[in-house]
Amino acid sequence: MFVPSLAEEICLLALIVLAIVLFVKRFGPIWQRIWHSKDNPEFHIRPIGKRIWDFFWEVLCQAKVIKERPLPGLAHALVFWGFCAFALVTANHVAAGFGRPFLDRHSGFGVFYWWFAFWFAALVAIGITGLFIRRFFIRPKWLEPLSYESGVIAALIFVLMVTYMPMWWVPETTTAGRVLWWIHTCSLLGFLPLIPHTKHLHLMLSPVTIFLSRGTFSAIPPLAGDEDFGLDTGKDISKLTALQVYSCVECGRCTEHCPANNTGKELDPKQIALGVRAYLNEYGNANDTPIVGATITQKSIFQCTTCGACEYQCPVGIEHLPIIIGFRRSEVNTGRWEDEHGTKLFLNLERHGNAMGFSASERDKFIAKQQFPAFDGTQEYCLWLGCMGAYDPRGREIVSAFADVMRHVGASFGVLKKEKCTGDPARRLGNDLIFGQLAESNLETLRQDGVKKIVSICPHCVRTIAEDWKEFGAHIEIEHHSEFMARYQDRLPSAQTGKRVVFHDPCYLGRYRNVYDEPREVIARNATVIDPPRARERSFCCGAGGGLAFLGEETGQRVNETRAKELADTGAEIVGAACPFCNTMFRDALASTSANPPELLDIAQLAAAAIQASGTRAG
Ligand code: SF4
Ligand code: SF4
Repeated sequence: MFVPSLAEEICLLALIVLAIVLFVKRFGPIWQRIWHSKDNPEFHIRPIGKRIWDFFWEVLCQAKVIKERPLPGLAHALVFWGFCAFALVTANHVAAGFGRPFLDRHSGFGVFYWWFAFWFAALVAIGITGLFIRRFFIRPKWLEPLSYESGVIAALIFVLMVTYMPMWWVPETTTAGRVLWWIHTCSLLGFLPLIPHTKHLHLMLSPVTIFLSRGTFSAIPPLAGDEDFGLDTGKDISKLTALQVYSCVECGRCTEHCPANNTGKELDPKQIALGVRAYLNEYGNANDTPIVGATITQKSIFQCTTCGACEYQCPVGIEHLPIIIGFRRSEVNTGRWEDEHGTKLFLNLERHGNAMGFSASERDKFIAKQQFPAFDGTQEYCLWLGCMGAYDPRGREIVSAFADVMRHVGASFGVLKKEKCTGDPARRLGNDLIFGQLAESNLETLRQDGVKKIVSICPHCVRTIAEDWKEFGAHIEIEHHSEFMARYQDRLPSAQTGKRVVFHDPCYLGRYRNVYDEPREVIARNATVIDPPRARERSFCCGAGGGLAFLGEETGQRVNETRAKELADTGAEIVGAACPFCNTMFRDALASTSANPPELLDIAQLAAAAIQASGTRAG
C-alpha cells in the first residue's frame, strides 16, 4: 500500500489544486458560452424513455461508434469502458495519496476489482495504441488536420495504463513502486487541464449532448417570430447548438459520408461544427458579426443536399441540419444570398405554387388524361401528386404506374383539384415565408376536402407533410407508396423474372423515415434485390435534396454521376428507385455510365409491370 510522507501529501494537494485551477480556467469560459447562449424553446425533455435508451445504447454500449466503424469503434469503446472501469481505482488512488485508501486490494472484492481493472488497462493500452497509429500513421484524410494535442492525450492515457499494471508486482513501498505511483498520478493530473482545450472535451460533453438531442432526425426548429432571421450572428446560437459544437470529437465521420465533400465541393460538415465552435471561441455568443463569412463560407452551406448522412453518422449527437438550414435562413432572410436559380425557384413557388413554374392547368390536363378521380371525401386515400408527379414527364409515369397498383389492390383514391408544392425546397433552402404560405394553403385545401389519409410517390413530400407541417398544427396521416405497396403485397403478383434490381435508398425515405425493407419487399416479389456498396443507412445521395435539384451546375464532380456509376457497377439490369427526384437525377447520369446502362424504374413501375405481365391488371 502507498504510504505518503507529509511532503508528498502537500505536493499532491498542490498538484490537484493546480490541475483543477487550470481546468476551470479553460472550461469556465466554454461553459459560460454554452449556458448564456439562446434558449431552445422548442426543446422538450420528453419522451424521457427514448433519451435514456439512446444514452444507454450510444454512450454506455458505444453501439453507434462500433457499428459504423467496427475496428476503430471497438478501440474507442475499450478506452471508454476502461475509463469507466478505472473510476473506482482512480478515486482510491487519489485517496491513498492522502493516506486514506478506502479499498483493500487484498480483500475479496479488491482482488476481483483490481484484476478486472488490470485487464481493462491492458485493453485500453492496446486500444489507444491502435487509435494513435491510425491517426498519426495511417492518417485517413477525414481525420485531417493532425492534432498534436491528441497525440499528447493518447500518450498520457497509455502511460496511465502501463504505470497501473505493474502495481501487482512492484510494491508501492519500494522506490520503483513510488516512482510508478507518481508517474501515474502526474499523468492523471496532466490529463485534466488538457481536456477543455482538445477534442477530448467530448468525454465530458458528449454524454450530455446525446441525452439532450432534439430526438427527431433533421428537426428544424421553427423561427421565433418576425425578428428571428435564423442562425445569423453569435446571438442566434442556441444552447443545444453550442453544446453540440463543443462536443465535436473531430472524427470526420460526417465528412467521410458527405456526398458534397466526396465530390470535391467546399462543404465539409466537420468544419460546419468546428466553424461554429471557432466563432464562439473568437467572437462569443453576444456578438453581432454574421457567422457565415466569419468562420463558415456561404458557398459551402448552399452545397448541402440535406441528405443527413452527417447527422446520422455523428457519434456524439451533433445535428448538422438545423445548423446548416439555420445559416441558409439567415442568408435568405437578410438578402445576402443572391442566386439566379434560387430567385427563380422562389418566384415559381410564389406565383405558380410549384417548383417548375408550370401553370396549374398543366396538372389539370394530366389528371384528366389519366382519368384520376377528384378526391371528394368518399375515397380512402388522397393520392398526393407533388410537383414531380404532376409536371415532370418521368414523375407522371411513376404516378400513373402507382395509380394502376392502387386500382389493382382495390384501394379507393382521389386527387386534389388544387394542390401546391409542399414547400420542401423553400424549407430546405431557408425561405420560411414561402414554405409557410404553401403549407397553409395546402392545409386549407385538405381541411375543405376532408382528407384523412395521404399516399405519395415522393419521400420529400412525405417528410415535409408529416413532419415540417407540424409547425402549423397539422398531424396528417401520410405514407410513402413503398409502405403502401408493401402492406398490400399479398395482392400483388409474384413471378420471378430472373432480373436483378439494384435498389437505391433515397435519403428522405431511409435516413429520414427509417423505411428500408418495404421497397425491397416490393421488388423482391418479381426480381432479385441487390444492394450497392453504400446502402440503407449509408446510402449515398443522388444530389437533388435540399432544393439543389433546382439550383445551377455543381462544382467538382457531379453527385448523381458518382452514385449512378456505383449503381451501374453492380452489374444489375435495373436500377430501382423510390423517389421521383432520384429518378430525375439518375436519368442522364446512368446514360453516361456506359453504352448499355441499366434501365431505371421506380418500384411502382416494377409493380405495375408485374401486374400487366400477370394479365390481372384491373380496369
Ligand atoms: S446533409 Fe449531406 S450534403 Fe449536407 S453536409 Fe450533411 S452529409 Fe453533406
Ligand atoms: S461533427 Fe460529429 S461526425 Fe463530424 S467530426 Fe464532429 S463528432 Fe465527428
